[in-house]
Amino acid sequence: MGNLLYDRLFGIHAGKETPFLHLPNGQVLTHSDFLDMASRLANTLIGFELEPGQRVAVQVEKSPEALALFAACVQTGLVFLPLNTAYTVSELSYFIENSGAALVVCDDVNRAGLAPAAAAQKARLETLNADGSGSLMRRALGMLPAFEPVNRTEDDLAAFLYTSGTTGRSKGAMLSQANLLSNAETLVREWRFTDDDVLLHALPIFHTHGLFVATNVVLASGGSMIFLPKFDLDEVLRHLPDATAMMGVPTFYTRLLDDDRFTGDLACHMRLFISGSAPMLAETHQQFEARTGHRILERYGMTETNMNTSNPYDGERRAGSVGFPLPGVELKVTDSETGETLPQGEIGMIEVRGPNVFQGYWEMPEKTAAELREDGFFITGDLGRVDADGYVHIVGRGKDLIISGGYNIYPKEVELVLDDQLGVLESAVIGVPHPDFGETVLGLLVAEPNKSPDLEAIMASAQTQLARFKHPRKLIVLNELPRNTMGKVQKNALREAYKDLFT
Ligand code: ATP
Ligand code: MG
Repeated sequence: MGNLLYDRLFGIHAGKETPFLHLPNGQVLTHSDFLDMASRLANTLIGFELEPGQRVAVQVEKSPEALALFAACVQTGLVFLPLNTAYTVSELSYFIENSGAALVVCDDVNRAGLAPAAAAQKARLETLNADGSGSLMRRALGMLPAFEPVNRTEDDLAAFLYTSGTTGRSKGAMLSQANLLSNAETLVREWRFTDDDVLLHALPIFHTHGLFVATNVVLASGGSMIFLPKFDLDEVLRHLPDATAMMGVPTFYTRLLDDDRFTGDLACHMRLFISGSAPMLAETHQQFEARTGHRILERYGMTETNMNTSNPYDGERRAGSVGFPLPGVELKVTDSETGETLPQGEIGMIEVRGPNVFQGYWEMPEKTAAELREDGFFITGDLGRVDADGYVHIVGRGKDLIISGGYNIYPKEVELVLDDQLGVLESAVIGVPHPDFGETVLGLLVAEPNKSPDLEAIMASAQTQLARFKHPRKLIVLNELPRNTMGKVQKNALREAYKDLFT
């Protein structure tokens, strides 16, 4: 046996003095520096007498040490479980308990708050701060920088990632070595990553986008990353000239476009801009191309599957589409009620199958059985269609579907009409309870800077473009849409805020 994930992502770089992480202070960590750090951490973890398969819950700021802890978990066969840095101590207590973590790693500021939850679980508690200080690295520094990876099969769990909680309580998705490795290797090929690439990395590393898509692709290709603690516009603009590729959520791109310093000249040397985690407006796509000449490559994935589809590297990158199923990934659109495959072009539930699909939700056998079919297809919860050319289009989440007077309304269809109106920057359409119709359509708008949209005119225009049952009953202007750190609009929060509007 061996440890394929370790060998292919990390082991291949043993002894290489090539750059891996370019830090904002100018320091460069080579592959070999990074592997040394990971091995010291692996020796530390083994010293805690943890067994392969046990969970290591980690809520820490983004740092090279945090990434090395991921490598150390792979090396020791422990299951890496990163947690959103925005979670409060009480939220964290749920994840620690739910995951049955054997080790909790947190920032020193949270140590006292988390001690009871860790103790209740008999979990060990160690600290790691943004600057690399804390009890974990103190111990690691005294360890040897060499470690023989623990044997693992490709079906063994490598990571355990909670979903973003956009539609309800977060679920723990169990990901095997093969799930992670297959996707990383596919994406390297599809997006043509090589050891010449320098990825501008401004995403968090507690989410699949920044951790598995970005980091694993760079590791598997042998390239390096400009590793920024977060998306800070000034810092991104400062480092862009040294990068060849960037991965971001759509808000990264709108924030760049909102700044005049982001010019075509600044971006012309770049090889690739990738977007995902939330839908990108076609308008953003077009503005980006007008400014830089680059067409952003949009892809689609989720915690449970890593990436499923991508626009082509060569060939048309279609605005408003998430591209084609990746090699090895099967995708079908089904009737939500019957599970039957729908004729091409119709809107339905997106289901996917492939080596990337997860092993189930942690200790949620019923939810796993309801969403992961016996034949291996995962019911994503996203509604979409495949156009005549094979491009996949996401129209929204099943849970956001509005049913008004018995008719199905896809929010995206109404949003596209509203987004097009004069003075409207973006919109979110939700269903809210209504005494006669069950649910009715509410349109929430964000105005373009210094504009005040004419709501009556917008309503009139929407009414000429949409069937009567899809007409928004009301339009409300908001300063901004509520978004989480991954740029996802929190429709649950909007539904909650407006639930009594018509009742
Ligand atoms: P939860 O499952 O807990 O409700 P979540 O689905 O938001 O949260 P993630 O796994 O982080 O958690 O997000 C995956 C979802 O993000 C997808 O199911 C899809 O709805 C959305 N998504 C990702 N990429 C895109 C994209 N390019 N276009 C549209 N939606 C996207
Ligand atoms: Mg989800």
